[in-house]
Amino acid sequence: MQGIITSLPLVIYLFDLVERKSLYVSPQVVEVFGYLPGEMQTAGPNLRPTFFHPDDLPRIAGYFAQITGSTDEPVFSVECRMHHKQRGWIWVVCRGIVYARDGEGHPTQLLGTAEDITERKGAEEVLRLADQRKNEFLALLAHELRNPLATLNNTLLILQLTGGTHEAMPLPMATTLMEREVVHLVRLVDDLLDVSRISQGKIVLTKQRTDLVLVVRETVEAVDGGFRMANRTLTVDLLIEPLYLSGDATRLKQVVSNLLNNALKFTRTGGHVWISLQITNQEPGGPMALLRVRDDGIGIAAYERERIFQMFVQVDSSLGRTRDGLGLGLALVSELVGLHGGRVEVHSAGEGQGSEFSVYLPT
Ligand code: ADP
Repeated sequence: MQGIITSLPLVIYLFDLVERKSLYVSPQVVEVFGYLPGEMQTAGPNLRPTFFHPDDLPRIAGYFAQITGSTDEPVFSVECRMHHKQRGWIWVVCRGIVYARDGEGHPTQLLGTAEDITERKGAEEVLRLADQRKNEFLALLAHELRNPLATLNNTLLILQLTGGTHEAMPLPMATTLMEREVVHLVRLVDDLLDVSRISQGKIVLTKQRTDLVLVVRETVEAVDGGFRMANRTLTVDLLIEPLYLSGDATRLKQVVSNLLNNALKFTRTGGHVWISLQITNQEPGGPMALLRVRDDGIGIAAYERERIFQMFVQVDSSLGRTRDGLGLGLALVSELVGLHGGRVEVHSAGEGQGSEFSVYLPT
């Protein structure tokens, strides 16, 4: 019996509710809390911030008050943070039953166990955060879908009412407007599909000998109109010779266009964006293609720079201030560049100081 008890990773304690201190703690206290039994026992009333986390103390004291005030058979069970001599705060579940009572039947001693549940709490926290992120994402997605759908809906209604003859919304204008929104929706859905493929490890590249200069030039041509319409200057500095690598042209275009679209989104009217391509010999693995997209926009604070490559991350996640997008673009960029054997870096002198994204790809 004794053997079983001492082999469990549980501390058995006898606690005096009146004196608020342990009368006995089993030897496993060394394993579970890092303290010697004597240290925990002789430290005086140990319901105090040394052993219990200050934030949990009121809750525990409340439980004690409830138990000492009752005359029935309360079972004590509380999850709280307690101090481990080497590891700092750990999560513990303390359970107990009444072991002794005073003349009026009020409990005076608790006999119980204390068990380390830090790992379980950590797993719960991870799940909770994932759930929270998922909820935030769904809210963002709904928000992102609503605007294009509203435009489509309204335009369709006007067409139905006027047959495309109204001078404020002639047919060509209506179709252009609707096409723009449909393109936007298709891109959102494509990004979502890519993300789900990435999370299942299902993205497959169709690698071929690909000229990166051509990839960049074609992407620039596709976004150039958008830049001009939004009154941003795009300066392009490519290589004269082709730059061949083994890559998936469609996916590489996606990388370039995500970076350019972000640069457009996060600069102000009149802003500048520079895109350049060169070969660098500074890398230990041999010559690499270096694609840089720089802007003089809102910049990125140092503490955000790691995070922005994660899925669903937007620097300002408050719905009211997002500038459309789902926080997927850079996650896709980093994943696709990784699949090509390359890497992405971000530099920014800070908020308001512009940003620069550098993509290194093996040639
Ligand atoms: P989205 O653009 O859909 O929000 P991304 O994954 O492309 O998602 O970008 C994540 C976040 O990184 C953006 O919300 C933005 O806060 C930040 N970011 C990306 N590119 C830039 C840039 N060129 N300048 C400033 N911030 C940027």
